[in-house]
Amino acid sequence: MKIRAFTALVVCKAVRGLAKLFGRGSSLPGKYALKICPDILAHLELPELSIAVTGSNGKTSSVEMIAHVLQNNGYKVAYNKEGSNQIEGVVTFLLGASNMKGKVLSDIVLLEADERYARHTFKYFHPKYLVINNLYRDQMTRNGHPEWIKSIIGQAIYDDMTLILNADDPLVASFGKDREGTIYFGARILPGDKLRNEGVYDDGKYCPICKKPMKYEYYHYNHIGKFKCLHCGFSRPKIDHALTETKDENGKASITIDDKYEISVFFTGIYHCYNILAAFTAATAIGIEPEKVASSLSGYVLKSGRISDFTLGKTQGRLLLSKHENSVSYDRSIDVVVGDSRKKSVMIIVDAISRKYYTSDSSWLWDINFEKLKETEIDKIFLVGQYCDDLAVRFDLAGIDQDKVQVYETVQEAADNCNNLDSYLYVITCFSDKEKILSIVTRRELT
Ligand SMILES: [Zn+2]
Repeated sequence: MKIRAFTALVVCKAVRGLAKLFGRGSSLPGKYALKICPDILAHLELPELSIAVTGSNGKTSSVEMIAHVLQNNGYKVAYNKEGSNQIEGVVTFLLGASNMKGKVLSDIVLLEADERYARHTFKYFHPKYLVINNLYRDQMTRNGHPEWIKSIIGQAIYDDMTLILNADDPLVASFGKDREGTIYFGARILPGDKLRNEGVYDDGKYCPICKKPMKYEYYHYNHIGKFKCLHCGFSRPKIDHALTETKDENGKASITIDDKYEISVFFTGIYHCYNILAAFTAATAIGIEPEKVASSLSGYVLKSGRISDFTLGKTQGRLLLSKHENSVSYDRSIDVVVGDSRKKSVMIIVDAISRKYYTSDSSWLWDINFEKLKETEIDKIFLVGQYCDDLAVRFDLAGIDQDKVQVYETVQEAADNCNNLDSYLYVITCFSDKEKILSIVTRRELT
């Protein structure tokens, strides 16, 4: 190892040690290491097996599930569990997992890679497998349009990688065009599928290859479905691993992959199903038997889980974590509310838009299909947080019965007014705001 790389390694480990001592995990050690040796990643000795996961949503959940399956099957895994997925974070975690000679001490490296920074990270080392789950409108002020994200992820893809792609997302599937050895996962037609796109916008309208109009046989949600371009013939590729069934009966939920591998789950939201499917496909790709993968995933409760059950006074409810600035994730949470036949109320909290960046952009509220809430009987609607008035205008224009709507600036005020409901309460908010409600309610075990 060259002296510069060695110095970077020592500094990174020292700063990381100090940060840990003070109870802080951050990507600062990697930042220092990159200042000393910008190509530090090229100096590391990585294990032969490596998997990276990128895309708009579900990276953390997919990585956590892949790590769980690998560990459960005897692999020693190094992965960025703190979720620091930009290049500084990746350097921090890889140097932290290596010895003083720069050798990463694990059987496999598993990496969550930020969709914008993957091109920088993969300049220096190429993961053997790259999983791409989806490309959505996400943090538009930072990421722009998904087509732009697609073009920069394209710069992170090299010939020696095996791609594991969501076949149902045309933007993602297009990475595999004319590329041999690509592994695809997707969902077969499911009971909740639609013949028409019901979103406020449609990112599957035009072919990502030739830009001419596309046709869908069915939509699972948004632009995810079975598509075909009538002009150039680009279509959903043949699926290697398929979600074939979802069941949610008598409080027992499960999904089936490839018609035979049943996995018990706490939640059959399609979103969650795709993350499980991505994890299943990645783990089988490296050679773990599908039966063992399914059994490892069965009943697994995500640490980074999107759902929490709670009690608030006499009210029972469920928190559905979504992502601010990401209308697709909100749309999926709304689907859960609409799909529940109980008497129910819903609370939407938008207080701090972003955890990391200052932004007061609320244009994404107009991309969410709140109109869908009219399809179901809702008892009460609580619009909460600093952006409660923006929400109130949006709900008014969605044509939602205003007699049902209550608007509160703080979560505490809202909580005080919904602790005695005779309906089930769904709370929809983002990671950035979740503690504001979780610190008030009493959490219950998921059942
Ligand atoms: Zn086309």
